[in-house]
Amino acid sequence: MENCLFCKIAGGQIPARKVHEDDEILAFHDINPARPVHLLVIPRRHITSLATATEADVPVLGRMLAIANRLASEQGSPDGFRVIINTGRIGHQEVQHLHAHIVGGPEPVGPMLKRI
Ligand code: AMP
Ligand code: ZN
Repeated sequence: MENCLFCKIAGGQIPARKVHEDDEILAFHDINPARPVHLLVIPRRHITSLATATEADVPVLGRMLAIANRLASEQGSPDGFRVIINTGRIGHQEVQHLHAHIVGGPEPVGPMLKRI
């Protein structure tokens, strides 16, 4: 996908601090971390968002979660973590390539959302 930031990271045209790479999934540090551990796990293949994923994407989505779990432990959040998949306008998704945020660290990340 042309002009997709995360496709460019997956293709090596834009650098990232990678922590996992295989033929279908890539994980790297978020450039603007919100917590001591803040990773992004993405499918290499362009999927715009969870809203456009299909049944055919179930295996890669499942592997993303399994990799997230392993990476959280390895990268400094062994006692739990949070997975966030912002989706579409309402979900405040800024990069239009499906990605799971893995956030954590030594301290609890806090309540899920501020109540409005
Ligand atoms: P979202 O709002 O869920 O689309 O989140 C996009 C995330 O991508 C944000 O947390 C950004 O800090 C992160 N981000 C943007 N550009 C880069 C980059 N070049 N490398 C790593 N993370 C990035
Ligand atoms: Zn993409």
